[in-house]
Parts: sequence; C-alpha cells; structure tokens
Amino acid sequence: MANLGFGMMRLPILEEDNFKSIDYEQVNRMVDAFMDAGFNYFDTAFVYHEGIGEDAFKRCVVDRYPRESFKIATKLPLFVIIEESQLEPIFAEQLKNCGVDYFDYYMLHNVSGFTETAWKNVDLYSFIQKKKEEGYIKHIGISTHGNAEFLEEILFEHPELEFVLLQINYLDWDDEGIESRKCWEVARKYNKQVMVMEPYKGGFLADVPEQAEKLMKEHDSDKSVVSWAMRFVANLDDICVVLTGASNLEQLEDNIQEFKNADPLSDDELKLLEDVSEIINSNITVDCTKCRYCVDACPEEIDIAKIFDLYNKDRMLGKDDWTQFGNAYLNYSRLPDVGIASDCSECESCIEECPQQINIPEVLKDVAKVFETEGYGFTN
Ligand code: SF4
Ligand code: SF4
Repeated sequence: MANLGFGMMRLPILEEDNFKSIDYEQVNRMVDAFMDAGFNYFDTAFVYHEGIGEDAFKRCVVDRYPRESFKIATKLPLFVIIEESQLEPIFAEQLKNCGVDYFDYYMLHNVSGFTETAWKNVDLYSFIQKKKEEGYIKHIGISTHGNAEFLEEILFEHPELEFVLLQINYLDWDDEGIESRKCWEVARKYNKQVMVMEPYKGGFLADVPEQAEKLMKEHDSDKSVVSWAMRFVANLDDICVVLTGASNLEQLEDNIQEFKNADPLSDDELKLLEDVSEIINSNITVDCTKCRYCVDACPEEIDIAKIFDLYNKDRMLGKDDWTQFGNAYLNYSRLPDVGIASDCSECESCIEECPQQINIPEVLKDVAKVFETEGYGFTN
C-alpha cells in the first residue's frame, strides 16, 4: 500500500488572502502530528506560498528534526525558466531554502503545454540527472497535468525518470480532460512509481452534493465522505505516495485516520463512486482546484481562485442560502487592491497557467452576471 505524504501547498495562514502569513505554530503542530503518526514524507515547491513554501518546510521540519528522520520532495519551477544559466542558481537557492544538502525526490514542476518554453529550450532532464549523479538528488521525476499521450512521449524519451506525480482521484479518473486513469496506466506501462496529488480535488470531494453524500451514507453510515476519496487512491496499484494537502491540523489528523483506515473498495463501492461522480459533475460549475497558479498572472489582481470557490459554492447551494456567498463576494469586492470578475480585460494571461484548462475569462463573465447584481447586494 502507498505511503502518506504531507503536501505543503496550502498551509494554514493567519491573515485571509495573505499567503505569506503562514501560521508556523500550527504548521509545527501539523508536522509533529504527522511524524508521530509514523509518516515522514514532505512535498513542497519553489513557488508554494508565493515563494516562501520551501523556507516554511525548513523552519517547521528541518530545523526541528534530524535529517535522516524525514524525506523531502521539491520541484524545479519550470514557470520561470527561459535559459540554462538559471538552473544552477535556482537549484542552489532551493537547497538553501530547504536547509538540506540533498533532496530525496526532485521533480520538474508541471511539465505540460504551458511550461514548454522551459522544457523545449533548456535541457532540464540532463540537469536533474547530473544533480543526481553529483549526489544532490536521490530520485528524479516529474509532476504533470498533461494528458496520457503527452506523458507517454516523456516517459518514452526519458527512461531515466523514476517517478511521476499525477492528479488522481475518483472524480478525474475517467475525466476526458484530466485522464487520471490513462495517465496512471501509462506510468505503470513504463514501470514508474506514481505519486498522487489532489486526492480530494482541492477539497471538492470533502464537500459533495447532498444527494451524493446520501448515497455514500446509505451504503455505510460510519464512513466519512472524504474517506471514500482516500480509499480510492490509497489502494491503486503502484502508488508510492498519496499527498494530502491539508490546510489545518484538524484536516491533517482526519487525513491520517482516513489513510490508516483506507480499506480497499469492493466492486459495488467502485460502482457507487461512479454514480457519485455523475452527481458531482452535474453540480460542479467550475473545475477549479484552487492551486492559484493563475492568480500571479493576472494584471487586474483578480483573486480568481477565491472568486471561483465562492461561485462554485453558491451554485451548489439551494436558493435558500444564496446570500451567503453573494455577501462573501461583496466583502471581497470591497477589499483594497483586488480586482473583481468584471475587471477582467480578457488578456488571457491566466489561461495558460491553469492545469485544469479552464477558460477563466469566460467563466468570470458568468460570475459577474451572477454576483455583480443588485439581487446579490452588489451596488459598485
Ligand atoms: S484574462 Fe482576465 S482574469 Fe485572466 S489574467 Fe487577464 S485580466 Fe486576469
Ligand atoms: S483557475 Fe485554474 S490555475 Fe486558477 S486556481 Fe483554479 S485550477 Fe488553479
């Protein structure tokens, strides 16, 4: 069975919308709970928490535990690489940020269409291979949101890769855009270890529509809604790590329990998850996982991830609750220096950043139509 990993992408923060205001005290408690439960795999990246994610890992793990007691995975930020001369300085900076002499796992961050400037112009694969030979990396791999055909091309051309980090969950399993199942099959065909990201699809699978929850509870009233998502990924073949992206201690503790109790799904239960997926798909308006890759690209400073989250929740609720998220949008719109949906200039800079291939400016038009109306209390 797979191991559980602590994905440090969405750590708790002290000030709303300030992703650099990491709640280090709480992260320390999360790390302690994770280690006490017998797990030791941490996953971070150069770009997490607006560039201070690796330092947060150092402060909460490296400065508090002996090096041999944990494993660290981080990622080369392909988003910013345009020439080879950047590689050595960035890699050196990452070792310094993390406070380590070597990385256990190191990957090219999101090899896909929107990072092609980096991987087409710069020989990234030779670089990570060289770093491995020099002893700075134990295992090399990639993370990707590309489709199965794209993944197959990479794995065919680069037999030196040892693992792949893929978005896998029961909702994306047969999704035509994400192709979780097909990507997993390709990775297995090339004998690669698979790491799983987004097992809860950015929280979607923790908060499913009522009708879907009812199906799950009728089948087994003792099992939580999220436990189904964990059971699905934890029992797939050739999965070495499942990353939980917990954003507070309570979530992490729940994830640990869900992982420890993740017994395999029966055929009936797998069929039930197909029905659940159908219900969820008919309720999801925007397939956003809140990764926030798009937010930095937006010249209008629109917090796209936050707006889509409010919009999804609003659409999922019945009419009785509509004011809740309309109000939240109104509050957001009154913050200083933020853009609202109708500020979108359709420059399209964000589109190529989105691993979920969402046509962001088009969706923002719908959001503006819903939220920026007097009916929702919007008067700007
Ligand atoms: S298309 Fe709109 S949301 Fe996207 S980056 Fe441009 S202004 Fe921002
Ligand atoms: S719109 Fe796309 S890039 Fe932006 S937060 Fe959502 S999934 Fe991530």
